[in-house]
Amino acid sequence: MDIDLTAPIFHDEAAATAHMEADRWPEGAHCPHCGSLNVHKMAGKTQAGMFLCNDCRDKFTVRTGTIFERSHIPLHKWLLATHLMAASKKSMSALQLQRMLGLGSYRTAWFMCHRIREAMTPSRAKSGPIGGENKVVEADETLIGGKKKNRGFAKVEPKKHTVLTLVERDGESRSFHVADVTAKTLREKIVTVASRRSHLMTDELASYASIGDEFAGHTTVNHSDDEYVRMAGFAHINTAECRFSLMKRAVFGAHHSVSEAHLPRYLVEWDFKFNTRGKTDGERAALALKGAEGKRLTYRQPH
Ligand SMILES: [Zn+2]
Repeated sequence: MDIDLTAPIFHDEAAATAHMEADRWPEGAHCPHCGSLNVHKMAGKTQAGMFLCNDCRDKFTVRTGTIFERSHIPLHKWLLATHLMAASKKSMSALQLQRMLGLGSYRTAWFMCHRIREAMTPSRAKSGPIGGENKVVEADETLIGGKKKNRGFAKVEPKKHTVLTLVERDGESRSFHVADVTAKTLREKIVTVASRRSHLMTDELASYASIGDEFAGHTTVNHSDDEYVRMAGFAHINTAECRFSLMKRAVFGAHHSVSEAHLPRYLVEWDFKFNTRGKTDGERAALALKGAEGKRLTYRQPH
């Protein structure tokens, strides 16, 4: 870990605020309401971190327009939580975060985790199609969900959910919760997420046959084939399978079960970690922090 958890930004609110301001506004603060650079910092203890826009006369702080807006959690705890989540190789449970940050309630920790996952969502500008000419996109589907043994009180095994992952070889991954694995459902995702100029690599699931026709090329791989990696190493879906194994370790290691409603947020976290696998923990945390801007969750914070 290249993150120094004893750094003042993780313990001191003024240091955390200064860090966030420098990160968000490297060329000086500007008004998030009207964009004006004609702003000034308000004096006085009760207005710490508050700016006033001289043009629209509105007030703002570095939290305004970010996932941290309207939260009562101090910024230094947000920074620590973001760094811990970005640095954890698997995933961090809300319970673990509650203990590490000394948070009053589990619900607060849970809410923070989901907000930070929101920050990890790729921005619209960067979320264009993956793959392209002379590139391979692997598609694979898997079932994830809780196992009965992890929940002693559960009489029935928690419901499993189908996840579709698309991975550009040596590139990024995008994962989705899908209702089923029919050609119609899979096609809808695959053709919007992957460039049709790519070479599609899938298993032998029949649904992929017609979808593959729409791509520059299509190769199928038999999971149970002894000659697993065929064509001099070209025909495989190992990247997608590696992506799945990381995700499954996270589910069973940290969360035990994931509800259907929140599954997309966990998928975002695992895609983010996979897509930043070549970066240091510090670089990954900085990216998550950058993503905190311009995103606000629509559901309200409990308590
Ligand atoms: Zn303004």
